[in-house]
Amino acid sequence: MNPFRYPTKQHRRRERPPATNNYHDFKPFLRREFERKCIYCRLPDTLRGESNFAVEHFKPKDLFPELLTVYSNLFYVCSSCNRRKWNIWPAAKEIKQGRFFPNPCANVMDKHIRYKNALVIPRSHAGVFLEEVMMLNTDENGIAFRKHIIRQLERLVTLQKQLQLALRTMRLQRRKLGDPLKIAELDRMRAETVAELDQARLDGQFLAGEADLPPESRADAHAAGV
Ligand SMILES: [Zn+2]
Repeated sequence: MNPFRYPTKQHRRRERPPATNNYHDFKPFLRREFERKCIYCRLPDTLRGESNFAVEHFKPKDLFPELLTVYSNLFYVCSSCNRRKWNIWPAAKEIKQGRFFPNPCANVMDKHIRYKNALVIPRSHAGVFLEEVMMLNTDENGIAFRKHIIRQLERLVTLQKQLQLALRTMRLQRRKLGDPLKIAELDRMRAETVAELDQARLDGQFLAGEADLPPESRADAHAAGV
């Protein structure tokens, strides 16, 4: 199970934020718009906290100051990708040759780049360019982190299967029990197992960045190691 996936469809912006002179005001809108994941490396912000995510100027603000607060030029990215992209913007000639940054509003990302386990497989010149700039296949820390998440998710899937099996066994046992005390004991165990299963599901959603959480508080608590 790999939570690192690029969109297979082009994104149409849904949010309609009011105009502002401060592009930071757009962050909560961008966070919702792009489902709390970095558009470049697909890291969910549930894992590193919203404070480690930034408003990204797709066309760099130093080169295109007129787009500083234009919502359609803004995206949601992790701070590593934001730092790496910085002021990089390919020349017109390079763009013509396919060396451009793909973005989910203008491109089907999956056609340019795809994850296989913790590494990416570029599928176009733009995908190669994105991989190079964001160091998706060369940043050892990033790769180790993704491997860790993928392994944890696999463990959670195994745990869920074991708990479901245990619940089935308990259901069968219960039918054979006559002693009310033993039934009560079994029911207590079942309730504990159900709670454990629910928690395993929530943990899985959290790791995959799909948890439906009350956003900031939970993300910040996690970033603070609570
Ligand atoms: Zn990123």
